[in-house]
Amino acid sequence: MSSNSSVVGQDHLFLVDKEWKEVLPTVLKLKKIGGRKYFNETENISEAFSLSDTDLRCIDEGTAGGVHMAGSGILLNINRAEEICKKANVSGVYSHAECGAARIYAKRENLDEEESDEFGIEWAKTLAEKLKVPYKGHIEIEKMVRPSGLHTAVAAYYDGTGKFDNSKIAGLPKGFVINRKYLDSDYGKTELKTAIEIAFGSHGFSEKFNQETPFSVIVLGSEKETLDTEAAEAREVAASFGERVLIHSVLLK
Ligand SMILES: [Zn+2]
Repeated sequence: MSSNSSVVGQDHLFLVDKEWKEVLPTVLKLKKIGGRKYFNETENISEAFSLSDTDLRCIDEGTAGGVHMAGSGILLNINRAEEICKKANVSGVYSHAECGAARIYAKRENLDEEESDEFGIEWAKTLAEKLKVPYKGHIEIEKMVRPSGLHTAVAAYYDGTGKFDNSKIAGLPKGFVINRKYLDSDYGKTELKTAIEIAFGSHGFSEKFNQETPFSVIVLGSEKETLDTEAAEAREVAASFGERVLIHSVLLK
């Protein structure tokens, strides 16, 4: 989600069309062969299941790597966020530009949405202090792997392994990463719903997602029973979006 009001109207539509053209083959491939086959056919896929660091970042597809929580946990109370971070061994906390979760937070708290990045920074610093780990800085839009004003995610990964980093392997669908391993089911579902709403909102591909070209939720797990539970959660969240969302359940070897 963007707080940059310069990207509007025709320019924005042009950007959406240009970026959509780039991701469309991936969207169609996912629809055609499914997530499981997509993953199985991707070479060196195991490399996507090791984290280079355990610093906390947003679920935003533009802030790849490490551990993820929406807005680095801004939608939670500080004690709950701390608890999750300790479980995930979080070693540092980042904030980032144009954070959709920080915007949701600002709206919820009746604060100025245009200032939402500031609240994101403040939150990340407070959480880092509470965890006694460094605040690693604000990831500016130029350093993010998406353009300003547009979420180019075509998927949300509902990751039960806690180790997934899709940026490690070229060719994997661009997507939000929800670190389900360290979240309870209720909050996991909240993050997944947030990701889908951002993708379907005015800062995502929005109505480009339909029955023919759906948004994908890719549930990842290495244990059948847990994977089934998490896939059921994903189906529950996706139900209200009808056939515009496709659920893929990927059991890893
Ligand atoms: Zn964010």
